[in-house]
Parts: sequence; C-alpha cells; structure tokens
Amino acid sequence: MESRAMVLEKFNEPLVMKRFPIPKLKEGEVLVKVKAAGVCGSDVHMWEGRDPRTRRPMILGHEGVGEIVEINGEKKDVDGNPLGVGDRVLWNRGVVCGHCYFCRVKMEPSLCTNRWVYGIHTSAAEPPFLTGNYAEYLPLVREADLFKIEREVDLPVLVPASCSGATAAHALDLSRMQSGDSVAVLGVGPLGIFAIAFARSSGASQIIAIGGTEERLTMCEAFGATLLLNRHRLSKEERKEAVLEATYGRGVDVVFEMAGEPEAMKEGISLARTGGTCVSAGFGEPHGIIEIDCFHDIVRKNLCLQGVWVSELRHTHMALKLMLNHIKDFKKLVSSRFPLAQATEAIQMMKRKQVVKAVLLPYDQ
Ligand code: ZN
Ligand code: ZN
Repeated sequence: MESRAMVLEKFNEPLVMKRFPIPKLKEGEVLVKVKAAGVCGSDVHMWEGRDPRTRRPMILGHEGVGEIVEINGEKKDVDGNPLGVGDRVLWNRGVVCGHCYFCRVKMEPSLCTNRWVYGIHTSAAEPPFLTGNYAEYLPLVREADLFKIEREVDLPVLVPASCSGATAAHALDLSRMQSGDSVAVLGVGPLGIFAIAFARSSGASQIIAIGGTEERLTMCEAFGATLLLNRHRLSKEERKEAVLEATYGRGVDVVFEMAGEPEAMKEGISLARTGGTCVSAGFGEPHGIIEIDCFHDIVRKNLCLQGVWVSELRHTHMALKLMLNHIKDFKKLVSSRFPLAQATEAIQMMKRKQVVKAVLLPYDQ
C-alpha cells in the first residue's frame, strides 16, 4: 500500500507529489487517512527557507484530522476512549519524550528537549518517510496523542485546534489574564483570532483587535473584538490614542502579540498598562530585533514580558473545546479548501494573505 504526499524539495518552488510506501505499524501505532491538513503560516516560512528546522526533502504539514484505518494493538484517546477503525480523530502536533528535565521536573512538556513535530522536524529521506500531514495517509507513533471527535462536525474546521489554537491557549495560560480585563490583540491571522476567542470566553471586558486586513478585522468582530483598529488607516500614535481612550488612559491589562513582527512587539509593549502583561506568541522563527528602553518600557512599568513557545497537549484540548463550543464562528476561520495537489497554490495564497486559513483535502469530503 502506498500514499501520495506533497514534498518540499526546493525552497520557493512547487511542492512535488510523490508516492511513499505505508510502513508496517509497530505495537501501539495508528494509521490515519488524512481528511484535512492545515496550511500554517509556519509552512509558508518553511517553503520560503526561513525556518532553520527545515530538513529537505520533507513532507510539510503538522496539523491534521482524519479517520483511523488501522491500529496495531490497543490505543486510547486522551479522554480514555478506546479507539477503533473508522473513528474520526485529531492528533496533537507535538510528540514529547516524557522523561527529560522539562517533561518530568518542570512539567512543561512544550519545552521538552526531545520534542518533535510531524512535518517540521522530519525528513522524507529517512524511515518511516511518510512523516508530514500533506499526505493521504499518516502513520502515528505510539506516543502520539489523539482526540476522538464524536460530534457530527465538519472535520476540516477543527484542523487549527492543534497549532494556532493550541499556541493561543498557551498564550492565554501565560498571560495572567483575569475576567474583566481589557485586552489588545496585535495580528489578526488565525493566532490572533484564537486569542480573541479565548479572551472573550475568559471574560475580557474589552478586546481591541489591531491588524492590517479589513476582512480579517471584520471577522474578529464575530469572535468578540469590541474595537477594530486598522493599522493601514490609523497611525501608530492614533492607535495608541484609541487604546488609551478605551482604557481610562491606562493602557490594556494584557497584550497578545500574535503578528510576529518586531514593530508589533514594540507597539504591544507601549499599549500595556503599568503592571500589565505583554505576551508574544507571533514569532515562529527569527524575524528581527527591537530596541527597548529598559527603564521606561519594562522596569518603571513593572511590565511582565512573556514569550510563548509552541504548546502542549492540554492547550490543544483547550482549543478543541473552544472550537466545539463556537463551531459556527470557527467555520468562518477555515476560509479555503484545496485538493492536496494544489498545496503550493494554498501556500502562496496564505503568503499573500488572500485566505485566513487554508486546508488541504487529500480526498473528496
Ligand atoms: Zn502551525
Ligand atoms: Zn521531554
């Protein structure tokens, strides 16, 4: 049995459709038929050669949902449900070791020194070859964490839960946000939209969305944004004035930097109130530096500046539950669907910000 998959061979050139043998499953492994694979901002950066982790040739794709077609032995999902052939599942993108200092001592598996992700750290030149979600089939290792999807939902809609949704959940976790807080979200791609949805569900009193794409800002409103600031229409000073006006001159309690742009980071620091928190989850790879006035920007402000690196299993759980509770809103997020063979077009459209979130469908749904 073989599976087709889209392979990154040369940066900035079309992905190549290739066939790979489906490996024989080891004890505890699961073979899934991929129903939808998410095209992530990170995939765009990998395709462009901007991500130092990229190991060509590689099958891209770290976000997926699908149907189990084979299991070797017994396997349960994260809720303890026994899994069987035909079950619809979403898998957590990261696989952690469970025995390093961060896994065992600090209980922060997102920082696991042995953490790896299908379609990010894997090469298609080494066994088991079939190691990315841009494929018809994907064998999942014994350590992979799966969520059984029991509700009758449109599966591709759930794809972002394991990446942008989970990372936004991690950002919420680290933000110290309390019910009633005012929040500003910089960047209105999937990460920013999830941050808005989490802020709303956590009881934020105000959610200010700052972005440069009008359609995306409008979408933010559906997810709970109370004030929309278009950075192409308002200058940095005007945006700051609008934020101060909305927060009794204080600035917001919590800033979520979800754009991955040095300028957004700088702006975020300036928008947080004294004693507030600025959380940054936007930078998926190196992307520039900023100048900080240590006294005025950080110390005198008593500012908490918090970085967020990837996510762990419970964040995927948080994101998935959030999505299932607001499934109608999230249907709007997954704005475009492409056949697997058009993966390059999907990446290019994501790059040009013509779509909010694209998914690849290896099979007709
Ligand atoms: Zn991703
Ligand atoms: Zn570990």
